[in-house]
Amino acid sequence: MFLTVDSVREALLSRQSSASELATEALRFAEAENPRTNAYLHFSPERALAAAKRVDEQIARGEDPGPLAGVPLAVKDVILTKGLKTTCGSRLLADYVPPYDATAVVRLEWAGGVLIGKTNCDEFAMGSSNENSAFGPVRNPVDPSRVPGGTSGGSAAAVAQGTAVVALGSDTGGSIRQPASFCGVVGVCPTYGRVSRYGLTAHASSLDHIGPLARTVKDAATLLAVIAGRDACDSTSADAPVPDYPVHLDGNVKGLKLGLPREYLKDLTSETGDLIASGVEVLQRLGCEVREISLPATDYAIACYYIISTAEASSNLARFDGVRYTFRSGSSDTLSEMYRNTRGEGFGAECKRRIMLGTYVLSHGYYDAYYVKAQKVRSLIARDFANAFQEVDAIVAPVSPFPAFKLGEKVDDPIAMYLSDIYTITGSLAGIPCMSVPCGSTAGGLPVGMQILTRHFDETTMFRLADAFEKAQRS
Ligand code: GLN
Repeated sequence: MFLTVDSVREALLSRQSSASELATEALRFAEAENPRTNAYLHFSPERALAAAKRVDEQIARGEDPGPLAGVPLAVKDVILTKGLKTTCGSRLLADYVPPYDATAVVRLEWAGGVLIGKTNCDEFAMGSSNENSAFGPVRNPVDPSRVPGGTSGGSAAAVAQGTAVVALGSDTGGSIRQPASFCGVVGVCPTYGRVSRYGLTAHASSLDHIGPLARTVKDAATLLAVIAGRDACDSTSADAPVPDYPVHLDGNVKGLKLGLPREYLKDLTSETGDLIASGVEVLQRLGCEVREISLPATDYAIACYYIISTAEASSNLARFDGVRYTFRSGSSDTLSEMYRNTRGEGFGAECKRRIMLGTYVLSHGYYDAYYVKAQKVRSLIARDFANAFQEVDAIVAPVSPFPAFKLGEKVDDPIAMYLSDIYTITGSLAGIPCMSVPCGSTAGGLPVGMQILTRHFDETTMFRLADAFEKAQRS
């Protein structure tokens, strides 16, 4: 049986199990399962057992051990952990040990969470299949010949396998929602600024988010409530009150107005389209009113995203120069040769492609034509959503045009890989909350996720709808 945050809590408070026993067992299980998926890059037994011991001591003293007490969890390896290797899936950082913890990690541990390991991901969170990791791809636990999705594929696979109860991922253009959809788990990309980015290795700073992956909507909501909120270390983190999300999961969604974007439904493979359509019927039966809406700028979203994100990535990746971080090429005679060799040997092909593209769109003479234009298109995309939310409370859409594809199927065709992000990058560009909730499986047994998007800072409505949907699917 899979554990949840609530079942762990019950086991601890009824003294059926101690947090230390649970952590030992979770580590053993995760290490034994890992060869099947390569979901974890490294484990953190000392840190896990120390955290579990703190929880056991709190319980023994009769104190509240926190909302994530004793919960075994995993963190994507682009999120910094003090004293614990953080590689970003890159050869460049293969031996990098950060001097501080990301704020989200600090908050998880304050809440009693037990970090058991760091999860595999595409290099610097660039990709859609987890095949860009320098440490080998992750396999989808549902079908090991297929990708788990990217870039938080390790976190999604760990949760789907049951080796972690919940996990942290990062989402720039879909990297939590798409792997959640491919692996059949819940994945949440909160409002931009909801969760501090302090300690998240930057891919594209205006688009980067940290968010939860979990097996239930309630667990994802609990995790987000723990990590969200203003942080003095990140000036873009929002000073907005954080609701106690799980309290609002009352199953009542009657009268909610939902929009189905016409532009998202036209190119779907029939199986994904059919599953989303039956998901929408479930929501209608729960009393939601569904209407068609239009998000006309959708056609420009991929081009817009791959201009803005590569521009920001080219700048963010400039810091990996062989001086400030671990890897340095051994065979250079001059300083500029050392830079060239270090970056040439250290970065994988996808990072290099993006550095070149991003440098080009930022260069003199092209900046206005590409970068400035893309920023204008970004405003149009955000305006489409703002207009839609005058009419509806939430938008329901697919996450991906297709379910998990085969390993190797798209690696040689970057454009085909980029096109798979079409339904997720729009929400990222607008900075609104969006999530994937399991919506059934294809005849071949591959999971398909349904995406729910709501107004800025209205994660509460998003969770309420997803939770009601999840319960209706189960009953
Ligand atoms: N697939 C998208 C990209 O490659 C999204 C990645 C992400 O969200 N980190 O940029």
